[in-house]
Amino acid sequence: MKYYDKLIFDLSKAGRQGYSLPARSWDATLADIPAGLRRAQAPALPEVSELDVVRHYTNLSQMNFGVDSGFYPLGSCTMKYNPKINEEIAAMPAFAGIHPLQPSETVQGVLRVYKELAHALSAITGMAEFTLNPFAGAHGELTGLMIIRQYHISRGDLKRTRIIVPDSAHGTNPASAAVCGLEIVQVKSKENGLVDVEDLKPLLDDTIAGIMMTNPNTLGLFEKDIKEIASLIHECGGLLYYDGANMNPLIGMVRPGDMGFDVLHLNLHKSFSTPHGGGGPGAGPVGVAAHLVPFLPVPKVVEDEEGYLTIAGQDGESCGQISGFMGNFGVLLRAYTYILMLGKQNVKMVGPLAVLGANYIKESLKDCYKLPIESVCKHEFVFDGLLDQSTGVTTLDIAKRLLDYGFHAPTIYFPLLFHQAIMIEPTETESKETLDGFIEIMRHIAAEAISDPESLKTAPHTTPVRRLDETTAARQPVLRYAEM
Ligand SMILES: *Cc1c(COP(=O)(O)O)cnc(C)c1O
Repeated sequence: MKYYDKLIFDLSKAGRQGYSLPARSWDATLADIPAGLRRAQAPALPEVSELDVVRHYTNLSQMNFGVDSGFYPLGSCTMKYNPKINEEIAAMPAFAGIHPLQPSETVQGVLRVYKELAHALSAITGMAEFTLNPFAGAHGELTGLMIIRQYHISRGDLKRTRIIVPDSAHGTNPASAAVCGLEIVQVKSKENGLVDVEDLKPLLDDTIAGIMMTNPNTLGLFEKDIKEIASLIHECGGLLYYDGANMNPLIGMVRPGDMGFDVLHLNLHKSFSTPHGGGGPGAGPVGVAAHLVPFLPVPKVVEDEEGYLTIAGQDGESCGQISGFMGNFGVLLRAYTYILMLGKQNVKMVGPLAVLGANYIKESLKDCYKLPIESVCKHEFVFDGLLDQSTGVTTLDIAKRLLDYGFHAPTIYFPLLFHQAIMIEPTETESKETLDGFIEIMRHIAAEAISDPESLKTAPHTTPVRRLDETTAARQPVLRYAEM
């Protein structure tokens, strides 16, 4: 252990100060606080110098792993590079200093950004209009499902309370549907990983509100039967929801609106290069086809004939309000900057390059790792552990060993369709050299599994903490230094 791995409490020395408060009396302010609410004793905080605080936080930050520190092929998460110009724009005082209750005439530029981003997303996805208010992908799902429900209610069609979700779906899909009060009906996948249209047909009746689909699905496979699925669902009176969290491979290639989807959400904190991890902030804009525009949530940005923008509140047919104000504006700005920096032509390269990178890794490793579905993938693909499983080395061991070589682990044990799933998504922002480096290490690990399985079973060896008991860490977390 290095000296500064010590907890900051261990460095504490009574009376040491890290910061000097301005020399003025706080007594008058304190007198305003009712006696019952005042502290009887000083809080037990570490007493350290400013330098100790700086070292504490700097060292902590270096124990962390992010896209800025190394390759992060976390399938279904699109950990692409976050260009630094996005940060510069988001930090501009004219944007960072605004207040959500400012009068419209003082934030015309901000409202214009909102409108223009919504417009760009409509063009990329083939939808009529967007709300940028939802804070995350799952929040977008809930918003989209509320729009679907509101649509059926507005037609007096109250029986439609069931929603179809494929067995390969991301876990947030059934969760959002349940929060929206819908009953989940599962449709199975075929051997080749695609939704089984024959399994779908008997599920369709006048109680079906719609279907939630991810395309490419969580196996990284394009649902080729989407046109047929769309007409089956529409014929039975339902709507199609598109989980566009992983829109990356389709950007510039195919538009969900053209596939027949009625509602979708995007994860700006995946496909549109804004940072994510650690729980937020994110942005999950929702786009709708023309017939669903009246049901979008409020507040909305509306434009008059002279191009003047205002924020509109209550609206008769709207599904309601899903967030305090107009979304995480800093995240929206980053995504807008990203789209403008790429421009119309380069945006079209995002999808093809993401797909090329994923297929390159897949083809380069399939003689060492078990590839359960042999076909061209989109932006990600799934291995089912090592090809030679006789050594007892598991996917968890492989993931932990990768950390020793400075790579973040891929997504493991998801999707649930395979026992030893490893889901790899390189994204388009990595160089061929980085992909080759990753391939080399993955091949090396496959060789180690035979020559020295123990080094994998006990990995990681070089990280600040070794292999954790993740279940206990989640169920009984130790979140503070000491019992007070
Ligand atoms: C990430 C993801 C989500 C959920 O997005 P959050 O922003 O984490 O709520 C939903 N669906 C898919 C396919 C995803 O990859």
